[in-house]
Amino acid sequence: MSRAFAEVDIAQDFANLGPEFSTRVPCQPLSNARLLDVNTDLATELGLSPDTLAAPEFLAVVSGQSPMPNSETVAAVYSGHQFGVWAGQLGDGRAHLLGQINTPQGPQELQLKGSGKTPYSRMGDGRAVLRSSVREYLASEAMHGLGIATSRALALVTSDTPVYRETVETAAIVTRVAPSFIRFGTFEHWSTQPDVLKRLLDYVVDQFYPECRHGISVGDTQQVAERLLAQVSQRTAYMVADWQTVGFCHGVMNTDNMSILGLTIDYGPYGFMDTFQVNHVCNHSDTHGRYAWNTQPSIAHWNLYRLASALMGLDLNSEGLKAVLQDFETHFLHRYYANAQAKFGFNQWQDGDAQLLDDWWRLLHHGQADFTLAFRALATAPEQEDDFLALFAQAEQAENWLASYKHRLTEQAIDPHIRRENMNAVNPLYVLRNYLAEQAIQAAKQDDPAEIDTLLRLLRAPYTEVPGFEAYAAAPPSWAQGLSLSCSS
Ligand code: AMP
Ligand code: MG
Repeated sequence: MSRAFAEVDIAQDFANLGPEFSTRVPCQPLSNARLLDVNTDLATELGLSPDTLAAPEFLAVVSGQSPMPNSETVAAVYSGHQFGVWAGQLGDGRAHLLGQINTPQGPQELQLKGSGKTPYSRMGDGRAVLRSSVREYLASEAMHGLGIATSRALALVTSDTPVYRETVETAAIVTRVAPSFIRFGTFEHWSTQPDVLKRLLDYVVDQFYPECRHGISVGDTQQVAERLLAQVSQRTAYMVADWQTVGFCHGVMNTDNMSILGLTIDYGPYGFMDTFQVNHVCNHSDTHGRYAWNTQPSIAHWNLYRLASALMGLDLNSEGLKAVLQDFETHFLHRYYANAQAKFGFNQWQDGDAQLLDDWWRLLHHGQADFTLAFRALATAPEQEDDFLALFAQAEQAENWLASYKHRLTEQAIDPHIRRENMNAVNPLYVLRNYLAEQAIQAAKQDDPAEIDTLLRLLRAPYTEVPGFEAYAAAPPSWAQGLSLSCSS
């Protein structure tokens, strides 16, 4: 199915949910907007044809110049806990929802980020810089390529509009796609207004979690809320387990950046680790390390408690809601160990494996090993010991660990060739390292999308080696070692 933009049916269910939830507000167009990159893979999934993408109407919509046919753009309100502290009202300060389109995968909401001021902009200018827009565009597709739940990115627009941060930069707009951009913070915002909160709950359940109502009598809000919380908890646990096992740090796990659908959203100062550090912090503004790699699971759990507290605004039994969240750790470990089992090339997860995994993290940390290269090298480590050991600063510790690992492999009957293939299908060769994103940003500043396209090609199939692209799989070169990322976006 392929359709021209004017023929696309656009629904505005969220905008129609009630005037409390969002404000109708037009975008502020950019000066001399140019389509720098368009995600043709995602466009195809959405049923948008190449002709559609090439038409001037497409650029007009994704650059904020005109709304989708027969619709209005809206900005949503939400609140949130930022760095553990209640921040009160936030909302889409630089984002506009265009509405949902129907796709074979269900309805998908389109949202522009960087599209101008809204009633929720506070002191902000409503803009996003090209640098952070390239990073969001690349990261959402990289995560999708890794099979991790995420919002997607359809288009990247650059412009001649200046933005003032530490220096003068270029304003850009990313078109993001997800079934919904509702956040934990949306529920927190309405926690003291039961009528509105109930409408939000019903909307989210009916649209995205209809199974929560199965077999439950109408009006049993307690049961519905508990089931919703259980689902969100499980999805969030799986998402964070997936982050941990690719070395992804989100950077700003505030409750306003937590999707009610368990998707990775709001890519800012995120990072895929190069050298493994158990308490790695990618966000330079996070001076206390609240969102370090090793705290992400417990922070996600904490955020779920904030969601549960918000739901209590429906006059529910708090014990029932809290009990639901006791399963978070079980869900997390289930996924985390399943991922580790596959990454280690094991047929099953057995006694002693959790210890082997802990020892692995310790080895990576003290050995200052590259996260991605170390996992990838495991597949051939038993046969090519020297190559493997060369990845670690302390060869002796690595030798000891490898001896345990090799012993563990003897406890299962699997052809080494098949084991290697299985492992190479789950341990990525290419990840979105900061320095790779930086190269794409520099080119993007010259209106050159070639580096973005190269990265997208590799990151969409991150397990498959592409001859000639060895450099993209390497640890950062020396020029990039001290690369400092600005947090302003
Ligand atoms: P973030 O840290 O990007 O998730 O943003 C936190 C809050 O600040 C959200 O409500 C954003 O909409 C808002 N915000 C961030 N940057 C800007 C900006 N340049 N202009 C307006 N609002 C912004
Ligand atoms: Mg945000």
